[in-house]
Amino acid sequence: MRQIALSTLFIAAIALFTASPSYAWDDVGHKITGYIAWQRMSPAAREKVVKILRSAPEDSHLSTFFLPYGPQSDEAKKLAYFMLVPTWADIVRDRTFAVRYEKYHHGNWHYDDTFWKLENGKVEFLSGFEEGGQAVPRLVEFEKVIIDPMKTDAEKAIAIAWIAHLTGDIHQPLHTSARVTDLEPKGDQGGNLFQLTPQGTPRDQALNLHWYWDSIVTRNIPYDNGFCDDEYVKSIAEAMMRAYPFEAERAKLTLGKYPDWQTENFQYAPTHVFSPDLKRFETPSDEYRRKAYRLAERQLAVAGYRLGETLNNVFGK
Ligand SMILES: [Zn+2]
Repeated sequence: MRQIALSTLFIAAIALFTASPSYAWDDVGHKITGYIAWQRMSPAAREKVVKILRSAPEDSHLSTFFLPYGPQSDEAKKLAYFMLVPTWADIVRDRTFAVRYEKYHHGNWHYDDTFWKLENGKVEFLSGFEEGGQAVPRLVEFEKVIIDPMKTDAEKAIAIAWIAHLTGDIHQPLHTSARVTDLEPKGDQGGNLFQLTPQGTPRDQALNLHWYWDSIVTRNIPYDNGFCDDEYVKSIAEAMMRAYPFEAERAKLTLGKYPDWQTENFQYAPTHVFSPDLKRFETPSDEYRRKAYRLAERQLAVAGYRLGETLNNVFGK
């Protein structure tokens, strides 16, 4: 069974590290969101959601992530499964599974960018750009699917997987931001064009601002054994829930108001992401990294709460 678990993670790892633009949170970030959501979900919601996910279309491979064997309790198996579900939308980026890729991968669903520039120290919003991403309209659409009694469980499974992923994505400020500069007149693609390594660094060693933020959790808390296991994810997620308890965040969750979630996360782009100490072609300071992590902690906790409560509202009764 270990082998199956590892191969699943391996597929996920390949999907994540053959990195291309517009990834949001690495698999650690998405698993944290899944873990926190699960803590909020009622027994009824957990039962229903797992049952629906396991009815996913076979060609999506979504149901195969559930590992029914092994010594763990049923509850632990369901949690391990649910933590993988938010990573599925990145796993389907893998082109070696051509059918799955063609049918389920949608690059522009992972973000919803506000175009902006800094003019005399002030944020100026810009319009007229072609592609700003689809995350918000997709969240709206998929919520309609999961509440619709006429939809099949197979349709709802895909909808839940996307909601689980996009709820996480939209809490990464660089998935809501396209900064326009003289160097990036069409926008910086969520910081993908903003390099943090010196000019001329070979592509496979280059680091850009987008990936820096996606992987901010492991930058601050590296794997203790070189491997991202669920215990590692769990300990980080628990710390985030202690730092930002549900009761303190509850009033701000604005469930179903997806444009507001986008606005909330965008506001951190000019202040926390492109803070004055950030320099192109330079490694951000330790202070910048710690500040970025503090923001990510809160946003991941809130993303988990929002996901859990959204699923509770639909499936918890
Ligand atoms: Zn994504």
